[in-house]
Amino acid sequence: MDPYDVVVIGAGAAGMMCAMEAGRRGRRVALLEHASVIGRKIRISGGGRCNFTNRGVVPERYVSANPNFCRSALSRYTPEDFVELVRSHGIAFHEKTLGQLFCDRSAQQVIDMLVKECRRAGVEIVLNCQVHTLKKTDEFLVKASTGDYSADALVIATGGLSLPKIGATHFGYRAAEQFGVRVIPTAAALDAFVFSANDRRRFEELAGISLPAAVTCQGARFEEGIIFTHAGLSGPAALQASLYWQPGRKVSVDLLPSLSMEELRGWFAEKKTDGSGAKVETLLAERLPKRVAERFYKLHDMTPRSLAQQPAAALESLCRGLKAWTFMPHGTAGYGTAEVTRGGVDTNALSSKTMECHTVPGLYFIGEVVDVTGWLGGYNFQWAWSSGWAAGQAV
Ligand SMILES: Cc1cc2nc3c(=O)[nH]c(=O)nc-3n(C[C@H](O)[C@H](O)[C@H](O)COP(=O)(O)OP(=O)(O)OC[C@H]3O[C@@H](n4cnc5c(N)ncnc54)[C@H](O)[C@@H]3O)c2cc1C
Repeated sequence: MDPYDVVVIGAGAAGMMCAMEAGRRGRRVALLEHASVIGRKIRISGGGRCNFTNRGVVPERYVSANPNFCRSALSRYTPEDFVELVRSHGIAFHEKTLGQLFCDRSAQQVIDMLVKECRRAGVEIVLNCQVHTLKKTDEFLVKASTGDYSADALVIATGGLSLPKIGATHFGYRAAEQFGVRVIPTAAALDAFVFSANDRRRFEELAGISLPAAVTCQGARFEEGIIFTHAGLSGPAALQASLYWQPGRKVSVDLLPSLSMEELRGWFAEKKTDGSGAKVETLLAERLPKRVAERFYKLHDMTPRSLAQQPAAALESLCRGLKAWTFMPHGTAGYGTAEVTRGGVDTNALSSKTMECHTVPGLYFIGEVVDVTGWLGGYNFQWAWSSGWAAGQAV
């Protein structure tokens, strides 16, 4: 039996941050990872360049049953703190859009940095480690394929369910249940919408077309790109909206976000009076990709005639349809493609300052396994760093 002060299960973003911080405080730390390679999700993140944080991090950009929970950790370990760490390792980075910070070269640099910091802090990293059982007596006992480990503190950092093919498991949720900690139902999020069979037939010819749009779901509005896929709707604005989506709820898309309803009406009125005699779909193609213009024109069942001859009611209905095209998703694509898992370990069971369970002293949950899910664009890594850091100060 190897005695440690702290055992961390899951060597992803949150687990490595927690382990290195605990190690720096002189704790003897074992970091157990079931995969043979460390930080695989970090490696593929941000298209291989890791969007490691966002300058716009605020608690309001996270979704949780307990919206204030993330406040303390995010304010104590901030994006600037992580940027400082990145800088101290000489990793070049840049801001892409909307405050998103990416490595110039490769996400592997972030992994190498965290591994180096863990080693420097004396953390023992154990790969290919299958954890069989967890037990709590006076201390925690972890039985695993690589041996048995005991510690006063046990940190669960096994992440969410997205991308099972690179190592995501239910482990963290099962561990919570074992210790009597509630788990808020999980769902794939930051994920593409899948159309109903009818909508799929209506829009499949648009697959591959992207355009700027604003997608609204449950009051949250995101103005970024969308892309029609063979199955539904993807692109950043759709992925962001999926974070707020619940089955049975509608999604609304503004296909012309740069024009207000008034401006759109005014634009048609102007075109009507200039007497060019153009058809509506031809005019629309000045504002939208041609095939999208044609599809939405057809959807509105207008009699094919020039703009000047269109009844006002038909034009008004088209304007509304373009500014608020509404559909009921059949679902989202699922954990095979989703960036994150919404829901997870109930934050009411945890201290927002340390991530420790109120009812099980010494047991901590950090990162994505916790019911805190951020927007697309570096917010989820920041939660992993901040919650990992918070637990690292306490264990
Ligand atoms: C394709 C993709 C791209 C992404 N890009 C970004 C991005 O650019 N910016 C951003 O902010 N977020 C991004 N995310 C989300 C981000 O990767 C996660 O939110 C973040 O990694 C969560 O950190 P974590 O440490 O909680 O979990 P993870 O990083 O997933 O780490 C969990 C670790 O636990 C290990 N593990 C699981 N089960 C067990 C077990 N039973 N025993 C031992 N170990 C186990 C896993 O192998 C893994 O190493 C992306 C996600 C995906 C899927």
